[in-house]
Amino acid sequence: TAEVLTLGETMVALRGSGPLKLGGTMQVSVAGAESNVAIGLARLGHPVRWAGAVGDDEAGQLVLRTLRAEGVDVSGASTDDGGAPTGLLMFEPRLPEVTRVHYYRAGSAGSRLRADAVERAFAAAPPRVLHLTGITPALGPEAQGAAERALRLARAHGSTVCLDVNFRSRLWSAEAAAEVLCSWVPSVDVLIASEDELPLCLPESVSSPAAQADWLLKAGPREVVVKLGASGATAYTADGPVHAPAKAVRAVDAVGAGDAFVAGYLSALLDGEPVAGRLERAVTTGAFAVASPGDWEGAPTRAELGMLGAAPGTVVR
Ligand code: ATP
Repeated sequence: TAEVLTLGETMVALRGSGPLKLGGTMQVSVAGAESNVAIGLARLGHPVRWAGAVGDDEAGQLVLRTLRAEGVDVSGASTDDGGAPTGLLMFEPRLPEVTRVHYYRAGSAGSRLRADAVERAFAAAPPRVLHLTGITPALGPEAQGAAERALRLARAHGSTVCLDVNFRSRLWSAEAAAEVLCSWVPSVDVLIASEDELPLCLPESVSSPAAQADWLLKAGPREVVVKLGASGATAYTADGPVHAPAKAVRAVDAVGAGDAFVAGYLSALLDGEPVAGRLERAVTTGAFAVASPGDWEGAPTRAELGMLGAAPGTVVR
């Protein structure tokens, strides 16, 4: 049975090499925050199930085929029978450190994920961990309902609930996000956010990130994990804060770092590691993502985790 169940929208991703309006060739892959986490976990050897919806189209086949190839269980995924297409996004590398992302996802199959499909996926094998992101409820009322059904089922089955806030300002306002996320917080066990996303989970203004984390620890979550980009991450629990600096790597592509981080964190949590060990694996998988092009392609296997400490110029034979 799956240790982790996750759901959300996965799209076809086209990656160009310069300004989009000049045309040229693009690479075809898939991307979605939750499936990035699923792939990261599968690479580390964890049984993981993804239960999103795709269109009844070739793009949807690409999504499912890719996840299958990565060892992610897609038997709980659904195919939209109302003609909604699989969503699409295009990455436009505009400057070495600045990438624009263009989305074509309004009305997509992923945004119409149904609660009954999630219920089936859940009932087939209640997972140890349910992983959700704040992107799913931003996609529309159906996707929000599906995520909330999963949240309720996880509570009923005693699954650990992990939420990565992942605020997307293009999909909804901060006010709309705060309303939903604040109602979710009491059901969340492991809350993961960037520093600037913490206020979205609080009904009132609280001064510092440490005070915000303390407030959240009294509201439901037993762990509040704050991602700090190149400064690493800090986890707050009842035992106080634990910080892990980022691993020094040459940054090639920052997209997907947060998802890789979550995969590492959950992997170590499933292995029974204490907070410091979870953070250590999370900053390691986050660094792999930053050091490799693509959202999930560079995710390490368990055997590769130690490679980051290797001296420059090392050849692994
Ligand atoms: P994204 O939305 O781009 O996936 P995010 O904002 O959710 O990212 P970040 O805080 O940028 O998440 O990155 C997640 C983790 O990845 C960090 O906590 C850190 O451990 C690692 N990381 C990010 N940037 C770097 C970097 N330049 N060098 C090394 N590690 C990094």
